[in-house]
Amino acid sequence: MEFPSTMLDFMHQFSDDDACRAYLEKMRWPNGFTCSRCQGTNASYVASRRLRQCATCRYQASVTAGTIFHATQTSLQKWFLAIFFLARHKQGISALQLQRDLGLGSYQTAWTMLHKIRSALGHRPAFRLTGLIEADETYLGGAVSGGLRGRGAAHKAIVAGAVERRERAAGSVRLAVVPRASKAELGPFVRGVIDANDATVRTDGWSAYDHLGEEGVDHEPTIQGDPTRAAKVLPSIHNVFSHLKTWLRGTFHGVSPKHLDRYLQEFTYRFDRRRREDELFFFVLRRALQGAPLSYSRLTAEVTG
Ligand SMILES: [Zn+2]
Repeated sequence: MEFPSTMLDFMHQFSDDDACRAYLEKMRWPNGFTCSRCQGTNASYVASRRLRQCATCRYQASVTAGTIFHATQTSLQKWFLAIFFLARHKQGISALQLQRDLGLGSYQTAWTMLHKIRSALGHRPAFRLTGLIEADETYLGGAVSGGLRGRGAAHKAIVAGAVERRERAAGSVRLAVVPRASKAELGPFVRGVIDANDATVRTDGWSAYDHLGEEGVDHEPTIQGDPTRAAKVLPSIHNVFSHLKTWLRGTFHGVSPKHLDRYLQEFTYRFDRRRREDELFFFVLRRALQGAPLSYSRLTAEVTG
């Protein structure tokens, strides 16, 4: 399907809500309308309710039902624009900026839209990492003093990370918030993101990774005396962590640990598709269409580490 790559393309292609709805219908029913109840393919459009009504069983299907756009008070065009900004801006977009750009009534509306989009990005399980992988963890929110790993971390969020190390640039990345940098947290994280039949995991000498070898992981711990050498031993994951921190600081001026998971989803999604930036709008929109509806109260009630 055709997707916009410039602001002018966007304005031309999505000039109003009807154009956005037609686009969603084309994504959802690429071969024409199919009734989810009776598989009928004939439908009429009920303009007043913006629904397709099946000609056979009279089921009324909404293209936005079961998506992040479900029951939204915000126009589809504004949603599309939010996705366009998020996808096209290399650094993403903050809720404050989105509120201004779209003229949204409240910060909360902008914030909720962006978090719904982020949650849709992490909606499907990602494939497992293969080849040479670097795994490590990092602390967000405040300075980290050397040698205090696993201690003094109460006020910081801990992010576990694994990235495929490749010849010239990194491959795919996986990140997760963990409550502690312990064996009980880091072990399952690493085993959960790698394909153990086709992966070699390189870590530093941190004892929480010691057991990986006994659990069937091809593990290469690297003991280094000097913590400043960590970046040399594990350059790819350190590079990822450094980008993550810059991104969180620069675009969002820091984020609440409670919602950090969803920012990690956006970061990971973006990182894994960084060579396909032109198509990102389409990818994100497709996820938005598949993403389950989430209310503001659900979003804020979720405690994610
Ligand atoms: Zn039907």
